[in-house]
Amino acid sequence: AKTSGKHTYRFFDKSMQDAVVEKTLMEARLRQTIDNNELRLYYQPQYNMKSGQIDGFEALLRWKSPDYGMVSPLKFIALAEETGLIIGMGNWVLREACTFNQELYAHGQGRLCTAVNISVVQLMQADFVQVVAAVLSEIGLPPEQLELEITESVLMERFEDNVRKLGELRSMGVRIALDDFGSGYSSLTYLKKLPITALKIDKAFIDDIAEGDNNIAITGSIIELAHEMGLVVVAEGVETEEQFAYLKQKGCDSIQGYLISQPLPPEEFIAKLQG
Ligand code: C2E
Ligand code: CA
Ligand code: CA
Ligand code: CA
Repeated sequence: AKTSGKHTYRFFDKSMQDAVVEKTLMEARLRQTIDNNELRLYYQPQYNMKSGQIDGFEALLRWKSPDYGMVSPLKFIALAEETGLIIGMGNWVLREACTFNQELYAHGQGRLCTAVNISVVQLMQADFVQVVAAVLSEIGLPPEQLELEITESVLMERFEDNVRKLGELRSMGVRIALDDFGSGYSSLTYLKKLPITALKIDKAFIDDIAEGDNNIAITGSIIELAHEMGLVVVAEGVETEEQFAYLKQKGCDSIQGYLISQPLPPEEFIAKLQG
């Protein structure tokens, strides 16, 4: 019919076609990245408010593409999840980040905690717990030195199954952090059901810490209630001294953000630890 013909035409207009081509191209490129050794990990320091020291780091993926330069994971993680490429990629991240930690230790650095982002697609693999256990024992990293960061979306799908797996990881000693807290549906009471050790307050709340902002009280309450539940609190995206002062006053345990440091390539992270 004429109408559907018109629809078809409109659907496949030039820009849509370009987008499809670009996505297909990117998928093909992404498939080559692991083989070509084009993936990199950057490490963002986590600063402990009590000790005044860096006591850990979050591993963040960068795709160093000859065509695109340093590509942010925001551009390719979703695609990697859709295509299943995230499994191999995620395993590589886990092994690489734990190895880096162990190397730092071998060179005389005190014990640091490695935080690794875990996609729901990874967690849903039947052997996920075994994979983590195997990586830790292979590298010799104590489980307490690994923190897995999960988001709420992880928990929406196959809740029972995923919670059971996280519980198994917990009993091995692995730490679990709920990432982007406050950006989704989570309530603090629902947190009680989860085998987590830490809460990462989403940057959006940290952004609201400004003089005279009404939302400022929320961050304070989150910290207080999380502490009552025995959780460690990490604030992300801390950029200003004002935010720092507020978070310190509220007893926030650790912070991460440009105020302390951007995510750094390994050599620069080591220099930062020494400086
Ligand atoms: P995320 O886990 O919430 O990571 C924090 C993001 O905030 C990072 O972006 C980091 O560079 C950025 N950031 C940190 N401090 C500041 C700050 O003070 N100001 C601002 N404006 N931004 C700050 P990045 O590296 O682009 O990563 C984006 C997201 O990609 C991550 O969000 C995470 O969800 C995902 N991601 C990164 N690496 C991995 C990975 O290895 N596996 C999986 N599954 N996801 C990853
Ligand atoms: Ca994270
Ligand atoms: Ca986050
Ligand atoms: Ca995020």
